[in-house]
Amino acid sequence: MAPKGDNVVVSNMKLERMLSMKGGKGEASYANNSQAQALHARSMLHLLEETLDGVQLNSPEVPFVVVDLGCSCGSNTIYIVDVMIKHMIKRYEALGYEPPEFSAFFSDLPSNDFNTLFQLLPPLANYGGSMEECLAANKHRSYFAAGVPGSFYRRLFPARSIDVFHSAFSLHWLSQVPESVLDKRSTAYNKGRVFIHGASESTANAYKKRFQTDLAGFLRSRSQEMKRGGSMFLVCLGRTSVDPADQGGAGLLFGTHFQDAWDDLVQEGLINSEKRDNFNIPVYAPSLQDFKEVVEADGSFAINKLEVFKGGSPLVVNQPDDAVEVGRALANSCRSVSGVLVDAHIGDRLSEELFLRVEHRATSHAKVLLEQLQFFHIVASLSFA
Ligand code: SAH
Repeated sequence: MAPKGDNVVVSNMKLERMLSMKGGKGEASYANNSQAQALHARSMLHLLEETLDGVQLNSPEVPFVVVDLGCSCGSNTIYIVDVMIKHMIKRYEALGYEPPEFSAFFSDLPSNDFNTLFQLLPPLANYGGSMEECLAANKHRSYFAAGVPGSFYRRLFPARSIDVFHSAFSLHWLSQVPESVLDKRSTAYNKGRVFIHGASESTANAYKKRFQTDLAGFLRSRSQEMKRGGSMFLVCLGRTSVDPADQGGAGLLFGTHFQDAWDDLVQEGLINSEKRDNFNIPVYAPSLQDFKEVVEADGSFAINKLEVFKGGSPLVVNQPDDAVEVGRALANSCRSVSGVLVDAHIGDRLSEELFLRVEHRATSHAKVLLEQLQFFHIVASLSFA
């Protein structure tokens, strides 16, 4: 259970034990606020399929293993795993081979709502039957499923056991807020802010260093776990600016109305300024260069593709002219990803107050938000020779 209450400072050590997107199926849950991620993922399916086309096919005697890292809870991960496996089955069949059995691991931090995710999984197709029967039974899954709890910045699987790693919208989450950012004596202390957007150069550099160290740990672990000939498809938030303190879409999400709402709580005397300054969103949208440096320094993977793509808005609204709907969509979107951390830092009651203020502020800037809130993504297709 995540610690809850007014006096709990989110300690760095605990981040990986408490971070999760909002579970369940409620209004501010991730499952209910990830349609934008679904749309962005769909617009990149051809790139995922290109990556899968490069994966080496093994003997049909050996199970083919795919992993979704940072799967969260909701239908996005189930959809992507299904796409990957169907694509691989087609590749085997096109070559006239009998497809192997498939295994899919859904992996995330331990506080992820795996229960809800497992309930959303379609039932397993009758494996006694032929693969044709499996495929014909569209509402069924043609793979064995399992959940794997743990941080993707470390080892999660046995050596040389995985054919394909997929990870979408997850690698921008840092393993922790850099210590110096929370240290009053440090030049990197992020005074007055809850995110790196618009922060000082020292703060921004501390975030960048944390991101690069984390990504290096991720690649090192995957290079041990992947089978030779395997591939990896990674998508995370990215930015187009060279300046890390300009976080683009993520900056707008966490650096404007969300920031102002924290300032409201301070000004209204509901929390003191130190409480606000001790809270930082552990997200970093890297530039292409930030990302590339780490992949090249690691040196284990061939780069098939490494690019920045325009993703679009994280807000999916039915009535774009309805400012109230836009404001609520922004607050829910923000809450679905950061709510668990906010609850732990200031308690459920103040968290409610905070997101109400985010909603009001966003409602009065609905038009600008719809125009300006755009995400860019880094897309990496890497192969392990
Ligand atoms: N891939 C999903 C969900 C993305 S949300 C989709 O496309 O919709 C980001 C997920 O990354 C969250 O569930 C979060 O818990 C997970 N995450 C963040 N840091 C992680 C880490 N160090 N190890 C594993 N998962 C992590």
